[in-house]
Amino acid sequence: MFELAAVSRSYGPVSAVSGVTLTVARGRTTVLIGPSGCGKSTLLRLMNGLEPPDTGAVAFDGEAVTPGTAPGLRRRMGYVIQEGGLFPHLTAAGNVALMARWLGWDAARIGARAGELAALVQLPEDTLSRYPAQLSGGQRQRVGLMRALMLDPDALLLDEPLGALDPIIRFELQDELKAIFARLGKTVVLVTHDIAEACFLGEEIVLMRDGRLVQQGPPRALIEDPADAFVRRFVAARRTLPGEAGTGP
Ligand code: ADP
Ligand code: MG
Repeated sequence: MFELAAVSRSYGPVSAVSGVTLTVARGRTTVLIGPSGCGKSTLLRLMNGLEPPDTGAVAFDGEAVTPGTAPGLRRRMGYVIQEGGLFPHLTAAGNVALMARWLGWDAARIGARAGELAALVQLPEDTLSRYPAQLSGGQRQRVGLMRALMLDPDALLLDEPLGALDPIIRFELQDELKAIFARLGKTVVLVTHDIAEACFLGEEIVLMRDGRLVQQGPPRALIEDPADAFVRRFVAARRTLPGEAGTGP
């Protein structure tokens, strides 16, 4: 669904993404993971054309993503930015409806679609009249997901969608997201820095370090056959509870 060929992007002296060649399969969940600052968010913005690459090429569904084609192609890609990105002066419903209004959908069609999506993400419909500041962190994430799904995109790009949530809400939403992805069957690219979340949600894992792709494969491959010492350390860098078998990095 996404084809990246030797894509690089720098900001001044900082090489955020260097020489990444990557194919993201259609209809599956691919997780980008790696330490903070390794280029995950930049890679997502290169995929949806919010950033042009300095060198290399990006294609979506067989079409080149360029400054000219990106705005049109982005309507087929739902996107949730790292901090959620809801507009504080719009209600949840207003946030969800934004693009559809701009495209001229009538109120009945917008209301019906918003109702469908509220059911999908299990958000009580009366919550939709609230402003983002009046919602819990988990509810804001659900609204962000609704907004990303409003136009029924072919692909969904989610940048650390559960990053700011407390552990119990995060755990619940991981279950829900997995069920939603399975139900929708869309191409999902999700960013996280949590290896357990990556292995739970991802059918394919892409591990990055310093702007480069280090290893790509199903979760088991990263755990059982790490490409190098960095992958082994990254996969093992988790706390275990007393009494649990653990390794440590
Ligand atoms: P991640 O999402 O993995 O934490 P990012 O893609 O946000 O990493 O950033 C990769 C590198 O590029 C970091 O060093 C970051 O500081 C830098 N960077 C990202 N976006 C910008 C920008 N708009 N301007 C300058 N530097 C940036
Ligand atoms: Mg990021």
